[in-house]
Amino acid sequence: MTAAELAELDRRISGCRACPRLVAWRESVAATRRAAFRDQEYWGRPVPGFGPAGARVGILGLAPAAHGGNRTGRIFTGDRSGDVLFAALHRAGLANQPTSVARDDGLALRHTRIFAAVRCAPPGNKPTPAERDTCAPWLHREVELIRPTLRVVVALGAFAWAAWWPALSRVYGQRPPSPRPPFGHGALARVTPDSPALLGCYHVSQQNTFTGRLTPSMLDDVLGRAKQLAGLG
Ligand code: SF4
Repeated sequence: MTAAELAELDRRISGCRACPRLVAWRESVAATRRAAFRDQEYWGRPVPGFGPAGARVGILGLAPAAHGGNRTGRIFTGDRSGDVLFAALHRAGLANQPTSVARDDGLALRHTRIFAAVRCAPPGNKPTPAERDTCAPWLHREVELIRPTLRVVVALGAFAWAAWWPALSRVYGQRPPSPRPPFGHGALARVTPDSPALLGCYHVSQQNTFTGRLTPSMLDDVLGRAKQLAGLG
């Protein structure tokens, strides 16, 4: 049943219009388009999670990119961040191919589901706190559905790291540690054996990968650790 429930959740997320500023932005980007994609029809809607229902590894991002997920309709698909992430997932044996260019490109993930804290592309990649909170129930419902198998969540960046704590309390009924463990690349937080481990990773943004702050081998190490924590390594 979970696969059907996830598909239904994806459908409902795709129709959400709860944040007026983000609805206006995603639709305006879709209408104006970037010159390189002028002949393409943009998705221009919220971007649901991607990956199998029985995922053991969750990868939590910030929000879709205006000309990436907001264009293709699949998270991290069609932008430089996704190029880096999916190549690493392929090296780790968690994706069947290293590239991700369109919803119908044949990409399939193994044991892994990718989702974002905010499901609509925000201006400047910066959702407001109110938008983050409005979108949180979608993440919580998604985590609830994959809870039976989910063992580790890789938080891509500090925003995603912070978005995990409300999920922990809503879905698992567990109070987050106080003070919260700080985000860092390779940081590991495990509240109880009954909830997934939280593993920090610098975001796969161009800002980090072009400057060498996040290298492919650093990403490989994090995914290798995530596989171990998920019982896949
Ligand atoms: S950001 Fe989330 S809550 Fe806001 S409109 Fe998009 S899907 Fe809905």
